[in-house]
Amino acid sequence: MSAQNVETFFRKKILEYYQVNKRDLPWRDIQDPYKIWISEIILQQTQVKQGLSYYLKFIEKFPNIKALANASEDEVLHLWQGLGYYSRARNLHYAARQIVNEFGGKFPVQYEDILKLKGVGEYTAAAIASFAYNQPYPVLDGNVFRVLSRFFGIQTSIDSAEGKKMFKELAGRLLDKKNPSAYNQAIMEFGATYCTPQNPDCWNCLLQKYCKAFEKNEVDLLPVKSKSVLKQNRYLNYFVFIENHQYIFISKRKDGDIWQGLYEFCLEESKDKLFSEKQIKNFLNKANVTFQSISLYPPIKHILSHQNLFIQFIIVSLESLHNTFQLKKISLKDIHQYPFPVVLQRFISSYFAKE
Ligand code: SF4
Repeated sequence: MSAQNVETFFRKKILEYYQVNKRDLPWRDIQDPYKIWISEIILQQTQVKQGLSYYLKFIEKFPNIKALANASEDEVLHLWQGLGYYSRARNLHYAARQIVNEFGGKFPVQYEDILKLKGVGEYTAAAIASFAYNQPYPVLDGNVFRVLSRFFGIQTSIDSAEGKKMFKELAGRLLDKKNPSAYNQAIMEFGATYCTPQNPDCWNCLLQKYCKAFEKNEVDLLPVKSKSVLKQNRYLNYFVFIENHQYIFISKRKDGDIWQGLYEFCLEESKDKLFSEKQIKNFLNKANVTFQSISLYPPIKHILSHQNLFIQFIIVSLESLHNTFQLKKISLKDIHQYPFPVVLQRFISSYFAKE
């Protein structure tokens, strides 16, 4: 079969698959660019199963651009709590204000304008332009890279400049220009639900006949990636100061690190391991903290995409804190009003439920 005919076969089968197997999801078959945008940002680093409830909560609380633009950052982050990659939420919030200020509150229609929104890259702009406006921009996300590299047997790494160019051209050629919305959703759906990273059911696949990876027994080897991520270990000692069983001290995380804009307790990071009891006492003495008692919560390992976090919570009861750490003093009963990273939130729920 000629290369052109193989491409036509691929396009046809992908659309057939979608017609029969597409999942019924609230952002499907809608043309509202705002809702499509929210769903795409949530799904960037999150599985549909986990993202669905967040999407529903988000749309209920912020049903349109204006509602999101008028919200405070704390409100947006609070709703995002537990989803991770919090820059997504901050960018959504920023971009909603951008839409109000630069586009008169109307979601931009042109691909180039969509691309100007904070947090929107080529993939998301193509998804919005095609799903909402049926414009002919091909999507390339992890699912699409996997399907294309396997079916066409492409050995070039997907994160190289050469690979990106090659996949972009191929995706552009394959796109159904008459119905880019359905085709883009179809190829993403096929990757997400059938040609999955592990153990796809190749024997019953409707693309198997011309699938190069299947023919050469290379399904598990594709796609090829050149960069491997080296994970950094970090050791976080959290001092949870509790004054008179009534008040607790927190602070907002600054820019340029994980969890930007979320809240935490007094943090002292150590180099190769978590503080020993002796180091904890030394730290408190040095800071002139007079405490009544100290208790340690069992250490936790928390894995992020680029970092392994080793965390311990040191609960320090005291009568009063001379606030040299510049922390915010809040009533214990108000703690749930503040957005914390999920690992701290779990500690809060478990520790204070016991209290
Ligand atoms: S045959 Fe296997 S590798 Fe090829 S497209 Fe189908 S599921 Fe993917």
